Amino acid sequence: MTQVEISPEEFRNEARDWLAAHVPPSDVELDGAEQIAVAKRFQAALADAGLAGITWPAEFGGRGLTAAHQQAFDEEAADHDLPTSLFMIGMGMCGPTVVDLGTPEQKARHLPPLLRGEEVWCQLFSEPGAGSDVASLQTRAVRDGEGWLVNGQKVWTSGAQHADFGALLARTNPDLPKHRGLTMFIVDMRAPGVVVRPLRDMTGRAPFNEVYFDDLRLPADAVLGEVDAGWTAAVTMLGHERVSIGGSARRRDAPLNPENLVALARRAGRLDDPEIRRELAAYHAASRTLELFNTRLRQEADAGVAPGARGSVAKLTGAELLWRGVELAGRIAGPGLLAWDRDDEDAAELALAINATPASSIAGGTNQIQRSIIGERILGLPKEPQVDRDVPFRELRVGTQQQG
Ligand SMILES: Cc1cc2nc3c(=O)[nH]c(=O)nc-3n(C[C@H](O)[C@H](O)[C@H](O)COP(=O)(O)OP(=O)(O)OC[C@H]3O[C@@H](n4cnc5c(N)ncnc54)[C@H](O)[C@@H]3O)c2cc1C
Repeated sequence: MTQVEISPEEFRNEARDWLAAHVPPSDVELDGAEQIAVAKRFQAALADAGLAGITWPAEFGGRGLTAAHQQAFDEEAADHDLPTSLFMIGMGMCGPTVVDLGTPEQKARHLPPLLRGEEVWCQLFSEPGAGSDVASLQTRAVRDGEGWLVNGQKVWTSGAQHADFGALLARTNPDLPKHRGLTMFIVDMRAPGVVVRPLRDMTGRAPFNEVYFDDLRLPADAVLGEVDAGWTAAVTMLGHERVSIGGSARRRDAPLNPENLVALARRAGRLDDPEIRRELAAYHAASRTLELFNTRLRQEADAGVAPGARGSVAKLTGAELLWRGVELAGRIAGPGLLAWDRDDEDAAELALAINATPASSIAGGTNQIQRSIIGERILGLPKEPQVDRDVPFRELRVGTQQQG
């Protein structure tokens, strides 16, 4: 039987058996280096089993199967705590963009090690003066012989401290308006001229970083897509990002999932409260609706229909659902959410999930930005005025750029 002849249900069974036998126990005691080693070993095993890059082309190590197969895997994976978050940006965003826009050489060089967990990627878009309006970014890449010389600063770069490669968006032509004159590059994060500084957030962890480029030299073949067409590449990647964030398989045992809030209500003696029961049912329905919407996006993607602005619906709804889960947890547990016994791991995990929730409505584009995209591109509302759209970037007063 060739790979494409395996049905999604057969594939589901294959995935279920493999996951049951191979997922390592989640061990919070492991330090950072050990966690990374566990994650890399697991990703390699996943790839060897043909369960990584399920929809990626087989010629680059993927399995060449359909979105229905991916979904079957995701549903089985939701029963486990897979140590794959280190690869989320590479597998969910950068890799698919290399599949879409990379040269044959870039695909051959980067996709197989990415799939096997040998190389970690990060996404270098946001800057201190360019987040929602990322087209205002000021990191410059200027021609340097055949290649490029890069200077500038990025911020909030998730996982950069572990990354081997990054997808960098830099300005290559400031004489063009801000959405033009950008180029996407593949950056070796260990190259001289790249400095990474971790930033700690309110969960106590350091999930993201500042990244400085100080005379970083890039070869000509570092360009991903076309020179000065980086905005198209960025939109491609952000489309993958929104689906990946909004549609990521939410573990069934994640603290804010409906099943766990039911368990929380049971432990708190609130499960007989009719108001709590009603809210739990509504929360479950909303959560299931999002799952089904994501299923539809994946099926359409399989049929060649890009998610487009509907990725924003998935992303926004996912973030709003988490906030709703936090509010519901608060109504169920009351002050118990703020103080718990040191050895109560469930409560500690819930507190961590609650503290991480605000990031969900910022990362990958804020809720306000998603609403604007939905309003303009799906509902057909008038576009936000963009007075700077046709003005050469050099003449704009954006971010930290001086006039002139
Ligand atoms: C956990 C986390 C991980 C991240 N990881 C990465 C990463 O790996 N790589 C990367 O490049 N970036 C990353 N980011 C950055 C993220 O993309 C930006 O934070 C986000 O796009 C918002 O930009 P900003 O923080 O500059 O806020 P701003 O753009 O300054 O926005 C501030 C506020 O103004 C609102 N606002 C801005 N413009 C408008 C508008 N036109 N209409 C209505 N409201 C508006 C926003 O909604 C927000 O409430 C991450 C962020 C977080 C929180």
